[in-house]
Amino acid sequence: MHPYIFGLILEILHGTFDIQQIIIIFAGHLYSLMEKITAIINPISGTASKKRIPTLLDQYIPQDKFEKRFFFTEYPGHAFELANQAVRDKVDYIIAVGGDGTVNEVAKALVDSTAVLGIVPMGSGNGLARDLSIPMDIRKAMEVIMERNVTTIDYCKANGHIFFCTCGVGFDASVSERFAEEKRRGPLTYLKDVVTEYIKFQPDIYEISLENKEALTKKAFLVTCANASQYGNNAFIAPHADMNDGLIDVAVISPITPFDIANLVVQMFTKQMRKNNKVEYFKTRKLTLKKKKPGAIHIDGEPVYMGETISIEVFQSGLRVISPLNPMPQVYDVPSFFSYINRLYEDIKPERNVTEKQSITGIIKNK
Ligand SMILES: [Mg+2]
Repeated sequence: MHPYIFGLILEILHGTFDIQQIIIIFAGHLYSLMEKITAIINPISGTASKKRIPTLLDQYIPQDKFEKRFFFTEYPGHAFELANQAVRDKVDYIIAVGGDGTVNEVAKALVDSTAVLGIVPMGSGNGLARDLSIPMDIRKAMEVIMERNVTTIDYCKANGHIFFCTCGVGFDASVSERFAEEKRRGPLTYLKDVVTEYIKFQPDIYEISLENKEALTKKAFLVTCANASQYGNNAFIAPHADMNDGLIDVAVISPITPFDIANLVVQMFTKQMRKNNKVEYFKTRKLTLKKKKPGAIHIDGEPVYMGETISIEVFQSGLRVISPLNPMPQVYDVPSFFSYINRLYEDIKPERNVTEKQSITGIIKNK
């Protein structure tokens, strides 16, 4: 029995109880029964404005069931600090509102704790959210969060740096380095960085030592270690990767020519990369990657500078996360790839969209 309740019973028995005290204790007890939700919002992820996000989120979280708090991040690493504090405050659900960088910061504070991660995807790639079949629409993502269907997923570490989607060396690391320096980070910027980086990129030689296996020496365009199956934007680098199998999927792409690109890109977006003879896959619990020189590797798309040797390891079921109870089935074939590219094009051409919508409205009005 709670000591206060015990004390109160004694007071009632002695006829010295105070009704106000009873009300305060009862209200406090009810308050402690409420679950806690904290949302951590990155105001600069992706290209959309986040000013109205707290009001929008608030509408989906019942006032009588949850104690809720909303925070905007103010500097790199702030999302991790806020999430870390929320874990210490025994917050039940911690919602990351932003892109993969924000999700990574929030989620790494939650690993091996009982706190549950919710994701409202608002970045340029949204890899983890897409891999968990979380809707890209804010309202639908909030509906999924309020279903509170909790699952566990694996997480990985590369020289102690935690990641949930992918880490890698080579071309994707160089692109992440260039992208991190961009002021505006949308799909168009990403595409521009990919092209610019490809023109000057030189493949390197890597030594790859899988657990209990002899070291392999490979000249590669990139080596990616995947927990999730995709980089983000439905670019499936390891389509068969499973976030629950306690294994890392290693994808090694050998040097490619400009003639290989179109095929590789279509296969990446249609989950067909295994058919490509330039790509080799391995599954392992841990591995060591040796590079010729130190430099940037990407951790969930963000560049991190490391030495020549990188040790990568998976930790099974280390993160609790909300995923949809009934995920929407998705099709990844060539026609849907082209309709996706078309949507991407519409997204990055907002001025054109507005003009078209206005002219359509104009036509309707004229009728
Ligand atoms: Mg796995």
